[in-house]
Amino acid sequence: MDDAKKEELKKKLTDEEFAITQEGATEAPFSGEFYNHHESGMYTCKVCGAELFSSDTKFDSGSGWPSFTEAVNREHVDLIPDDSGGMHRTEVKCKNCGAHLGHVFDDGPSDKGGKRFCINSASLCFEQPK
Ligand code: FE
Repeated sequence: MDDAKKEELKKKLTDEEFAITQEGATEAPFSGEFYNHHESGMYTCKVCGAELFSSDTKFDSGSGWPSFTEAVNREHVDLIPDDSGGMHRTEVKCKNCGAHLGHVFDDGPSDKGGKRFCINSASLCFEQPK
């Protein structure tokens, strides 16, 4: 990221949002805005506004992070192998802007494809249906 872009994002985002979306940090469980949020609508990228997850796929995982069985469109996310921290995980990023969103695991509801997209609230905005 060039310095001008970085400065722009530092103004637009809180320190926590910057650390999570740009540096891959993780918010504390049960701390975010959306883990216990049940309204109908669309979750979009905090950084660029791309549509990422529909409330239709949101479920209560008990993890303390917003959890979804699927992205609204797989073309809107990048799934990247992540072996950091001694764990084999798959990172989820916004395809449009590269923001770190969270990780996807294979322990989601089996009747809905078995995936659990575990996403930081700080990476998301919520939009009600228009
Ligand atoms: Fe984005």
